[in-house]
Amino acid sequence: MTLSLLLTSAIAAVTEHETGVPKIRVDFEDESLITELESKNLKTCSQNLASIGEALKDYEREHGDFPEWLSGLHPTYLIDETHLICPADEDQGVPILPYDTDPNLPVSYSYDCTPEYYQQWLKNERNVYGDANPIVRCPHHANPEVDNTLMSDLYLNLSFSNTIYLSEGDWKKHPIRMYGGIEAAIKGYERALQLVSEDPNFFNLYSNLIRLYVIVGRSEDAENLIDSFKSIMKPHGEDIMRFRDYWTLLEMLRACNKHQEALQLCENLESTEQKNPWLKSLYREFAVTHEELGNIELADTYFDKYDSKREMIGKPAPDFSATDIDGNPISLKDYRGKVMLLYFWATWCGPCIGNMPIVKKVYDTHRDFGFDVIGINRDTEKSDMSEYLNVCSLPWRQIFDGKEGPLKKLYRVSGMPSKWLIDKEGNVISHEFRSTELNKLVRDIVNGFA
Ligand SMILES: [Zn+2]
Repeated sequence: MTLSLLLTSAIAAVTEHETGVPKIRVDFEDESLITELESKNLKTCSQNLASIGEALKDYEREHGDFPEWLSGLHPTYLIDETHLICPADEDQGVPILPYDTDPNLPVSYSYDCTPEYYQQWLKNERNVYGDANPIVRCPHHANPEVDNTLMSDLYLNLSFSNTIYLSEGDWKKHPIRMYGGIEAAIKGYERALQLVSEDPNFFNLYSNLIRLYVIVGRSEDAENLIDSFKSIMKPHGEDIMRFRDYWTLLEMLRACNKHQEALQLCENLESTEQKNPWLKSLYREFAVTHEELGNIELADTYFDKYDSKREMIGKPAPDFSATDIDGNPISLKDYRGKVMLLYFWATWCGPCIGNMPIVKKVYDTHRDFGFDVIGINRDTEKSDMSEYLNVCSLPWRQIFDGKEGPLKKLYRVSGMPSKWLIDKEGNVISHEFRSTELNKLVRDIVNGFA
């Protein structure tokens, strides 16, 4: 069962924290999914967040705002500094991003963004989503639906209203947890939508709200929401705006199972939006629509059009000869007989760095069973890469490819991080997978199940 299904089907049990202030919602419908240790960690982490929440309130009362760094709470507002460390945090408060490092103390938690960014953006979001908006988050817990053994994109959030709840990285996808129940979530999103109904930055509210309407069977409200979205769409706006509008509309139609109407829209767009450079980004939506309607061949065609790299799957991975950062020659064919991950990354790419601990863990788990990694760095300046590697040394070999290097071209890299999984015979197995799926993929191949 997926997390989203769990969230929609579970009525979150809300328990008062022992101080009577924070509300904690970290229950799972299927408790057997989480290990005893993780359950204990979640409990301690919730208590830490509860203490941090109380300390933040006290700090805010005196200073009119939150401290720039969470260490600013200690010792006046948060007496026990161990409350700043999550037991599931293997690095005990040393963050993955060097510039995210609290200057005074090891801290496992952080604001949802840097203090500077918080001033502009988070306050804006808080106005829209209300006090259910998270303020402090812990990224150190395993997502049991993905893989019990890995850190993944499961966050424990502390909201402005002192509620603690679980979500994926994108907390907006979990309105039921966020607001504490489906009716509250609908009210929260309806209120939010009233405030920003025409702001494209918040168009995700439309698709998220319609999903909630569908769950509770409010089909008339769903229909009306589609109509109101159509009335604010800007068919003569810029290319990118039209693309965003259509994307949202397709998502809404699909959420209501209006696949035929979605198909009609796709077909219209194919002729009217031919010159829109963003049209290609919608091909995935086209493909999924065809898939829903059982047009498997057409779905495949659009998946291929959306991602030209797809044709490389199952074929020999393009070989290369280069020099690694230690000056030694390196070529892919030297690794024949091993399951390989090519990991294109750069220090400016948040998800590339954020996923590094996952890659490291998979490497540590499977290196003795024929798994290896080659890192291919795409920073503009080599010194940026070196600076990072000096702080966070990585156990696998690295190639510096630069921003527009030959390996980037060879592997048609566009989005980052770009991950290529290659089997022992040198054939591409997959390139579009979430980092959190990596362990399972490698384990299956190493064990010969794939
Ligand atoms: Zn935690």
